[in-house]
Amino acid sequence: MDLGIRGRTAIVCAASKGLGRGSAEALAAEGVDLVINARGAEALEAAAAEMRARHGVTVTAVAGDITTPEGRAAVLAAAPEADILVTNAGGPPPGLWSDWSREDFLKAIEANMLTPIALMQAAMPGMIARGWGRVVNITSGAVKSPVPQLGLSNTARAGLTGFVAGTSRQVAAQGVVINNLLPGIHATDRALALDGGVVKARGISMEAARAERMATIPAGRYGTPEEFGAACAFLCSVHAGFIVGQNIVLDGGANNATL
Ligand code: NAP
Repeated sequence: MDLGIRGRTAIVCAASKGLGRGSAEALAAEGVDLVINARGAEALEAAAAEMRARHGVTVTAVAGDITTPEGRAAVLAAAPEADILVTNAGGPPPGLWSDWSREDFLKAIEANMLTPIALMQAAMPGMIARGWGRVVNITSGAVKSPVPQLGLSNTARAGLTGFVAGTSRQVAAQGVVINNLLPGIHATDRALALDGGVVKARGISMEAARAERMATIPAGRYGTPEEFGAACAFLCSVHAGFIVGQNIVLDGGANNATL
């Protein structure tokens, strides 16, 4: 299927690795020019070089922390007329509900709620003026089914989800489509870090920790950045114009719900 977005320009945040990288790669494979971001310049430049060579698109690497005003300004300046925005950032650390201070909550809300909102507020006026745009926010399966030890993530992402629910309905008639993708467990550094936490807390092996988590997934495995990226690219395509304000769970069936 031709996604109909060849020649478009996309901003993909937090994209040197993991789900952001998978999304950037899938868009590049469709002929989309990219502005990609991550804090670590070396891995980011390497990712950009690989995608340029593999897909023949323009890839501009902007190193910086997307959760800061300076980081966001640099990314937006590199793509003043972006057609596609994929928001993403690292997830907050795990812990217990009683551990977190006001500052911990503010940091999580800044990273996983206010940052994507600020990026949408900056990029969407241009999309509206040009009559076409796509926004995909990478959130978490925890929005539908809370992960108790990820209370900071549960909290911040719920706020973003509420903003998108209303805003997506306000901009749809102007050609701008906003949706959220909710990853369950995917084989990325983030998943490895969370598995490492279980290893440490319970004194079990990494293999045992992974086997336990896989047993909670009906598909019997972790997801891959490639299949996540393909779903993201579809939501950015011309075919997704009637999918508005949805929260699409990619979790191998782990969220045990009828609807
Ligand atoms: P990952 O493999 O750890 O990759 C994170 C990417 O984001 C890296 O490229 C990293 O590069 C970049 N990054 C992190 N913080 C950044 C920041 N402040 N500014 C700019 N770039 C930043 O993570 P992932 O698994 O792809 O997860 C992506 C998002 O999905 C996270 O919010 C995570 O909580 C959520 N999620 C993941 C899973 C899963 O199973 N993987 C499940 C549910 C939700 P630098 O470190 O160089 O900046």
